[in-house]
Amino acid sequence: MAAERAAIGWLCGVLGYPAQAHGAFVSGGSLANLSALVAARHGRTAATGRPPGIIVAGASAHSSVWSAAAIMGCTVAVAGVPDSALHAVDLAAVLDSVDPADVVAVVASAGATNTGAVDALAEIATVCAERGHWLHVDAAYGGAAMLAPAARDAFAGIERADSVTVDPHKWLFTPYDCAAVLYREPSRARAAHRQQAHYLDAVNGEEADNPSDYAVHLTRRARGLPLWASLLANGTDAYVDAVERCLAMADHAAKQIEASAVLELAGEPQLSVVLFRRIGWEPADYARWSHHVRVTGFGLVTPTIFAGSTVLRFCFVNPRTSETDVDLLLESLIADPP
Ligand SMILES: *Cc1c(COP(=O)(O)O)cnc(C)c1O
Repeated sequence: MAAERAAIGWLCGVLGYPAQAHGAFVSGGSLANLSALVAARHGRTAATGRPPGIIVAGASAHSSVWSAAAIMGCTVAVAGVPDSALHAVDLAAVLDSVDPADVVAVVASAGATNTGAVDALAEIATVCAERGHWLHVDAAYGGAAMLAPAARDAFAGIERADSVTVDPHKWLFTPYDCAAVLYREPSRARAAHRQQAHYLDAVNGEEADNPSDYAVHLTRRARGLPLWASLLANGTDAYVDAVERCLAMADHAAKQIEASAVLELAGEPQLSVVLFRRIGWEPADYARWSHHVRVTGFGLVTPTIFAGSTVLRFCFVNPRTSETDVDLLLESLIADPP
């Protein structure tokens, strides 16, 4: 438990959270998002006497937010435009249209899965504070980028979020089954998640920060141990280097794509995500090429939809991916007849 506490403390420090912040490791970002939203709902229900039913989420929010809403019997009100960062004006417009007492939480993304876009967190945090709404920031993939000084500015305001999801098993190089749900004021999570029963009285009395109290779980294994062990073995500087290496690879890929006459960027890279087109290709061409490079073990580069059309998506989360790997992948795209 001490090792997990240290790993949680490190993550909270990366976010710029205050000293009292705390949380727990769970199986994935989906469970982390659900747990944070359940805590948010508990707080609202305690304040108003009736459970709220609307989760307000940016249009790029991860599918797990819809899944959490379904589990909780809530609906999702979507703010903003798909595939672009959420801004305060679009959020405010949606909040104006609903009963504030019916809002569970606002969910912003810090590193949307499809595009890497980071919502305007500082503005959003201000709107949420003014209106008294719980802000949950889903940084499952993107949170790692806060380690890179050059990328950190985009996250300003995340330290004001009531809860944050960060998945070490995404871009912090931990094997699967390691996600963190973090709370700025952990007592609010404990109020929602601590289970009460006489056979638990002794544990509840002794363990002021039992990880069971911060998510939808009771018995659990020490999922934070692999992150802690890796931080200990490699040092935190190695994490900074590894994340910066992925960002540099996104930069390199973008430059190569710009320089090519048959490839075209769909936009600037965001965090380590690069979306681009092969001019002249139909969706079936993308699918065929992607399948080929995957089954030959060359690369995992899948097509996605951006702004209504098919594009390819690089998402660099492996610091061992080299310039040569990227160049060879792009060459195979260029050489491949449409
Ligand atoms: C991957 C992801 C999730 C879900 O995480 P799992 O660990 O797969 O459950 C949630 N949010 C974002 C932004 C993600 O990228």
